[in-house]
Amino acid sequence: MRRLRIDEEASPDDGLPPIVCVKCRDQLDSCHRFRQVAHQTHKTLVDYLQFTSNLNGTPQVS
Ligand SMILES: [Zn+2]
Repeated sequence: MRRLRIDEEASPDDGLPPIVCVKCRDQLDSCHRFRQVAHQTHKTLVDYLQFTSNLNGTPQVS
């Protein structure tokens, strides 16, 4: 089974079906929202670590 990166560009010769059913579309939408939340959470945590690093000189991970 081929793994599809969710940010992969679609192309006519990628071997993937040109249409998907509603159920698969909903699953893709759900994965996309999860990815967006994960990226935003990652950014928030990195910003927080940077913030605490600036306060104390060392990262705080407790
Ligand atoms: Zn389907």
